[in-house]
Amino acid sequence: MTAVEFAPALLRWYELDGRKDLPWQRDRTPYRVWISEIMLQQTQVATVTGYYERFMTRFPDVHKLAAAPLDEVLHLWSGLGYYARARNLHRAAQALVQRHGAEFPATLEEVMALPGIGRSTAGAILALSRGERHPILDGNAKRVLARCFGVGGFPGEPAVEKRLWELAEACTPARRVDAYTQAVMDLGATVCTRTNPACLLCPVNAACVARVTDRLHEFPSPRPRKLRPRREAWLVLARSGTQLLLEKRPPSGIWGGLWAFPEFPTHAHAMQWCSENLSAPSGARAVEPLHHAFSHFDYAMNPILVSCLGRAPALRDDDRYRWYDTNAPAEVGVPKPVATLLQLASTTEDAA
Ligand code: SF4
Repeated sequence: MTAVEFAPALLRWYELDGRKDLPWQRDRTPYRVWISEIMLQQTQVATVTGYYERFMTRFPDVHKLAAAPLDEVLHLWSGLGYYARARNLHRAAQALVQRHGAEFPATLEEVMALPGIGRSTAGAILALSRGERHPILDGNAKRVLARCFGVGGFPGEPAVEKRLWELAEACTPARRVDAYTQAVMDLGATVCTRTNPACLLCPVNAACVARVTDRLHEFPSPRPRKLRPRREAWLVLARSGTQLLLEKRPPSGIWGGLWAFPEFPTHAHAMQWCSENLSAPSGARAVEPLHHAFSHFDYAMNPILVSCLGRAPALRDDDRYRWYDTNAPAEVGVPKPVATLLQLASTTEDAA
C-alpha cells in the first residue's frame, strides 16, 4: 500500500464504523477539542467521557478555566492521573487569555508554544476543529502506521519517530482532514489495538506489512527494558475525629499542586515529625503498604495511622496544610492512592 492509498481506505471505513457521537465531537471548537485531546493522552475514551462532561460544565470556555483556582482544576482532574496535564492546561488557558485574546492562535508553531501541547496534539486540535491539514502522531497513529508500513524499532527512538512522522505527513490527505484524523485515532483505539488487533475488520488488512508477513508482535517494537527505579516513603495519616491532615505538594513534580499525606524518607523521621507537630499523637500503627506505578518509577507507600487531638500550635491550617473532613470533602485535587487511603483511614478503628 502506498501512502496516498491509505487515507481513502480509512475514510471509507470511518464513514461506516468510526465514532461520530463522542461528547467532544459536538460543537467542535478548538477549546473543546483541546480539552479532550489532553484528557485522552494515556487515558481511554470510556474513562474520559465523565471527566470531560464535568470539566466542560464547570469550565465551558477558556476565560472560566483561566480564572479558576488551580485547586479547583485539579479537583476535577482527581483520579485521571498525569496531573502535569491539568497544571499545563491551566497555564495554557491563562496564556491564551493574556496573549491571544482567548482565541487559539493561527499557526501550528504558536499552538505548540502553549504549555503541554506537543506537535501531535497541536495538529489534532487544528485538524479536528478547523479542518487544517496537519499530520498527527499519537500512540494510536504510531501503532497503525508502524504495523501497516512495517516500521521496526521503538517509536521513542528519534530515527524511528522521524520515519513515522514522514509517513504521517505523506498519509494525511488534503481534503476531509478532520474525518481522516478521527479515523486514524479510532482505528488504533478500536481495531488496531495494542494486543489482539481485529485485523479482519481493518480497512488496510490486505496491504498491512505486519499482517501479511505475520509479524504483528514485532510492530511497533516495545520500549527497551530498563530496571525501573523504586522509591519508598512513609506517610503520616494523622486523624482527628473525621478529619485527616493533608499537605499540599510543591507546584511541580509528582502530584504537583495536589493534596497528599505528609511524606518522609524513613519511619523514624515520620515519628519525630508527629511528636513535634501533632497534639497528643497516640496509637501509631502501620497500615497495609500501597504501591503506585508512575511512568518512570515505582512508588512504595508505607502509611502510618496516628490518632491525635488535632493540630499542635506549630501546625496551622494554611496554604500548606489542611484538615480534610471525610464527611464533607473539600473541592481540592487528591490523587487516587491518597483518596484510597483517606477512605481506608476514615473507616479504620482506633488502636485499642
Ligand atoms: S491489518 Fe491488523 S495490524 Fe494491520 S493495521 Fe489493520 S488492524 Fe493493524
